[in-house]
Amino acid sequence: MNTFKSIYKIIKRYDSIVIARHQRVDPDALASELSLKEIIINTFPKKKVYAVGIPTSRFRYMGHLDKLDEANINNSLLIVLDTPDQKRVDCESIEKFAYKIKIDHHPFVEEFCDYEYINTNSSSTCEMILELTYKTKLKLSKSAASLLFQGIVSDTNRFTTINTSFKTFDLVHKLIKDTKIDFTSLYDDLYIRPLKEVKLQGYIAQNLILSDNGLAYIKLDEEVLKKFEVDSASPGNMINKFNYIDEVLVWTFISKDAKNEIYRITIRSRGPKINEIAAMFNGGGHERASGARVKTLEEVDVLLDKLDEACKIYRGEA
Ligand code: AMP
Repeated sequence: MNTFKSIYKIIKRYDSIVIARHQRVDPDALASELSLKEIIINTFPKKKVYAVGIPTSRFRYMGHLDKLDEANINNSLLIVLDTPDQKRVDCESIEKFAYKIKIDHHPFVEEFCDYEYINTNSSSTCEMILELTYKTKLKLSKSAASLLFQGIVSDTNRFTTINTSFKTFDLVHKLIKDTKIDFTSLYDDLYIRPLKEVKLQGYIAQNLILSDNGLAYIKLDEEVLKKFEVDSASPGNMINKFNYIDEVLVWTFISKDAKNEIYRITIRSRGPKINEIAAMFNGGGHERASGARVKTLEEVDVLLDKLDEACKIYRGEA
């Protein structure tokens, strides 16, 4: 039986389904869980479906999340989306679920579900949910289609990332044609941001340090973040805006998360693979989009050295 039919059959078998995704949610993770919840309920109205995880006010427009119904866990199916490793799943007691499915487009890290569908060629987890829906008897709704569109647009950085494919356009074309979503209006929620973030972006542009090998970085301490009235998550919201800079091959923002006493690091690349380097520093991600967390500035400097070396090797090879 093919993957899509197998997943459909497992979904059909369970009356109670919990959908989870990775911690520190982003639009692809959130849109995939909220849309899949809606698609399952649209197809099987009697099922109880919960989309769980810590919410963030920034993406409140996508919909609200549910509280995990502890009483149901033992008999429920858990579907983990957009998460390659167990420690980053934003859901408690995952070992207690009756059955677990993983659907993910990240490079493989570890097997922790009974059934795992991984497609690293897919642009986004939302693209995988859309394909699953179209290739089975699952029923798409207009609001689920809007969420899927936003998740795909966000994770492909508006169809620019390397995993954007013919299939991505094909599926999105079909989605727009079938559901007639007003897709241009969906960019408003996705891209609106406070002026203070634009000002921070200006500060970063003015103060980025560029190495001879094409590594650009900035360390943002508590004082700078305070001055711009942003928190340590904000720099990550604008990392994609620094793509397509001629002199820059890899770029990274390091921000101090004073509350948790760590440095949050977001990294992007136009060439060298960065996820294996990020994985050495309590992180991971995609070949060209990764994140990491470290405790000291010394570790930050070791990470920067490794990224710089990767740029040097890449330039030598290119
Ligand atoms: P971000 O820079 O937060 O947008 O993350 C880019 C990619 O790296 C996403 O696929 C994240 O899921 C992944 N990622 C970010 N931080 C971590 C981390 N600490 N550990 C593993 N993966 C991460």
